[in-house]
Amino acid sequence: MNCLECNAPTRVVDSRKKGGVAVVRRHGCRSCGYRFTTVEVSLYDFERLFKKKDMVSREIVELIENPELF
Ligand SMILES: [Zn+2]
Repeated sequence: MNCLECNAPTRVVDSRKKGGVAVVRRHGCRSCGYRFTTVEVSLYDFERLFKKKDMVSREIVELIENPELF
């Protein structure tokens, strides 16, 4: 993935599973040092969980709103 600030290639500095369906990745830019977090969820799980609004979807929403907590 490329940097959101300068578009240079980034590396994954941390990767962990969350809620059994999501993978949270912390990226660091090799060029400018900018750091950002992404959440990877399959489209299947994304649609299923956000429709149901169950525990896992709330956890993912919390994660999206507060990525620094994870
Ligand atoms: Zn950068």
